[in-house]
Amino acid sequence: MNRVWIGLGSNLDDPAGQVRAGLTALAGLPDSRPGPVSDLFRSAPVGVTDQPDFCNAVAGLDTDLEPLALLEALQAIEQAAGRRRTRRWGPRTLDLDMLVYGDRRIDLPTLTVPHPRLAERAFVLVPLVSVAPDLQIPGQGAAATLAAGLGDQGVRPWAAAAS
Ligand code: AMP
Repeated sequence: MNRVWIGLGSNLDDPAGQVRAGLTALAGLPDSRPGPVSDLFRSAPVGVTDQPDFCNAVAGLDTDLEPLALLEALQAIEQAAGRRRTRRWGPRTLDLDMLVYGDRRIDLPTLTVPHPRLAERAFVLVPLVSVAPDLQIPGQGAAATLAAGLGDQGVRPWAAAAS
């Protein structure tokens, strides 16, 4: 099996509920076993900033699904969440990103792994390092080192920030 890390994010329609539903759907994927799951985190939107905060989490998955089959499965989960996309980087119901797939480096028209923007996003690295402190990102070095260089960019626990 291959250890894959998947990033989840939502900022619409009960974001924490969306992320939890995404985690449940991941755990039900065929030829796969769920791995460690991070807590839920809150992050301010990047790029388009006039939209609600995101709820983010990272999940490990041990899978025999090949990368493109897994990508298709992730997109089916997004679709099932009723994902709406009005603009790039705008609000979305549920977003699933394949962050890391074992030690593979993949460069296909529809799939780049490790995820190309992983190293610049605290909302990915903070949850990722919390569950995989020793993870090496193929071609990029230790996840913990990348995270330390980036700072937390205001990423904080989901529950603590809710009021
Ligand atoms: P996004 O707007 O971030 O959800 O991007 C979705 C598109 O990114 C899809 O059409 C995928 O084919 C493509 N994509 C490329 N690399 C990845 C990856 N590592 N994980 C998820 N989607 C990816």
